[in-house]
Amino acid sequence: MADDLAALAARAGTLREQLERAAYEYYVLDRPSISDAEYDRLFHELRRLEEEHPTLRTADSPTLRVGAEPATHLVKHTHLVPMLSLANAFDEAELAEWEERIVRLAGDDVRRSGYTCELKIDGAAISLSYREGVLVEGATRGNGTIGESVTANLRTIHDIPLRLRGSDHAFMMEVRGEVYMPFSGFERMNEERIAAGEPVFANPRNAAAGALRQLDPAITAGRPLRFFGYAVAVPDGEDVPATTQHELLELLASWGIPVAPHHCRCATLDDVHRWAHDVEHRVRGTLDFAIDGAVVKVDALGLWPDLGVVGGREPRYAIARKFAPDIAETRLLAIEVNVGRTGTINPYAVLQPVEIGGAQVKLATLHNFDLVARKDLRVGDIVQVKRAGEVIPQIIGPVPDQRDPSEPPAPFVPPTHCPACGTALVTGNEQGMLYCPNFECPGRRLEGLVHFASRGAMDIRGLSYARLRQLVDADLVRDAADLYDLTAQQLADLERLAEKSADALVAAIDASRAQPLSRLLFALGVEHVGEIAARQIARHFGSMDALAAASADDILAIHGIGDTIANSLASWFSNPNARRLVRRLAERGVTMTEPQASSGGALKGLSIVITGTLPTLSREQAIALVEANGGRVTSGVSKKTSFVVVGADAGSKLDKARTLGVETIDEAELLRRVAE
Ligand code: NAD
Repeated sequence: MADDLAALAARAGTLREQLERAAYEYYVLDRPSISDAEYDRLFHELRRLEEEHPTLRTADSPTLRVGAEPATHLVKHTHLVPMLSLANAFDEAELAEWEERIVRLAGDDVRRSGYTCELKIDGAAISLSYREGVLVEGATRGNGTIGESVTANLRTIHDIPLRLRGSDHAFMMEVRGEVYMPFSGFERMNEERIAAGEPVFANPRNAAAGALRQLDPAITAGRPLRFFGYAVAVPDGEDVPATTQHELLELLASWGIPVAPHHCRCATLDDVHRWAHDVEHRVRGTLDFAIDGAVVKVDALGLWPDLGVVGGREPRYAIARKFAPDIAETRLLAIEVNVGRTGTINPYAVLQPVEIGGAQVKLATLHNFDLVARKDLRVGDIVQVKRAGEVIPQIIGPVPDQRDPSEPPAPFVPPTHCPACGTALVTGNEQGMLYCPNFECPGRRLEGLVHFASRGAMDIRGLSYARLRQLVDADLVRDAADLYDLTAQQLADLERLAEKSADALVAAIDASRAQPLSRLLFALGVEHVGEIAARQIARHFGSMDALAAASADDILAIHGIGDTIANSLASWFSNPNARRLVRRLAERGVTMTEPQASSGGALKGLSIVITGTLPTLSREQAIALVEANGGRVTSGVSKKTSFVVVGADAGSKLDKARTLGVETIDEAELLRRVAE
């Protein structure tokens, strides 16, 4: 038993040492050597050990401490009220345990109060002292009680007001918040540093914290720092000028303090779960700054003092709902390229498989060759990879210091010839892009055919990427029209295709002849012509002949169709190869007309936008339903939109509808309206 305890005490000692070192590197040097997730794991282990064996807890344990001691070379500032850390909840169950604990302490008042939820900005915590509304001092959090005075540096951040607006602020108060560096500014700054031969920063948080603690404010001024406020502290005995956290955020905004977007008042914990899910899976991918979770706060400020503080470190009124990290480090194994259907040569990264946010990531997009050069990505580097929501994983950049300076990997050299057909590549309008100019390139043809057969287009089941590749490689299919000449025998002769499957495939290709013009138009893969634009255009012209005869101006006359689409279509039809393809498709019996929608119906004359994944209807079914009832589906939300049908993981269209005050409904309501 004693031996066991001795072993546990040794483990606790090791953990304390590791955490101390990590905190020093993170808070003081702004140069972490382990990931946040790893730090959190070690911290949790130590806390569990101390809870199970209280004798192992030492007075200097990191579990009882906020941040790190202020650096000795900077002037100290004593906070009016301590700046604390936050307890973490890693899932919904832990959040529910937190609610149970605080309800036990403060009764049902907590539930009656509800919660205000905010983004947890991954920056550096600061405190701004305002006297009579004028900024007199600014400081870092430091050890929570004493921070480092960095006033001159904070004055260089443009969105920190030097004088507050309005007059309802306390005589002396501290506005608390987070200084952060947007991703866009961070990338630009690192690119400039690479160009100047200087070392790059590991991540925006460390770059922001490091910039704040510079001795020369001119250096801070050159860094793209921003600020969000979320709290106010007043001297003992005085009241914060608000009664709820959501009122306080409004008050801060009225004083000219930037407040982070997407905060939300939630009446119940279920609402909190839903909001946090949306932030983790949708909102996070749209932000230009890093968040490492959400902060859930009891809304009624009056309950905060009663709830108290755990271990002098974590207030009970709030909790951080941490998200799975969306950034991981792994090795870049290769940079490969594929050929897009418009001839673009697209580089992508092949990675040592790594888990990010619960999914295995093996590939990441690299966009174009300029980006590879600007980030100075080299095969063999350890790179940081970001995966947010449904977005394709992206590479943030190589991890500094991980490259062996004595044997650095060779810089990447872009290809000069098409990997699919060997034609010399050309540059185009878009910077950093390379194109294969060969219309007959098998790589281009293959991508075009994959799109032609895809679900939203001609929807030819069974015509997979691998199958199309076989057909192209065997030179049985050069363009979409050739698909309609295929026989079951030819298909059966291909490797691994049973007779029955060959018959089914020919039947599926045959059935696609009946798809309306709108689908054919989308399937042709004209640049910028998406599913909804194709429908609007097909509906307007009614037939391929009428469309082919139209000028860009005729197309532009359609409500909701802009210059880019109109010009792209007109120029596509001016290409003899394109006209020949259309003619050959028509000769093979592919439908060249659009059925006219019924003129009556419950949604007659309404302009409707659909966004997100609906619970039962596919996108095609929802569009068909709206149209069968006389409504029109458009792609963008505007003031003219009648209403927006919103499904799961809805994106910016939902935000836009809210901003414009356009009505939003769910699928059930849509079904009810058409049944009326
Ligand atoms: P924390 O960052 O988990 O939470 C508290 C902080 O959240 C507050 O101080 C505040 O600055 C910030 N915050 C952001 N948005 C907020 C909002 N809307 N409302 C209230 N607060 C908000 O706790 P911490 O003590 O600052 O740091 C601990 C964390 O730092 C660890 O969980 C770990 O992820 C990281 N860390 C990493 C290393 C490392 O070596 N990688 C070392 C030390 C700490």
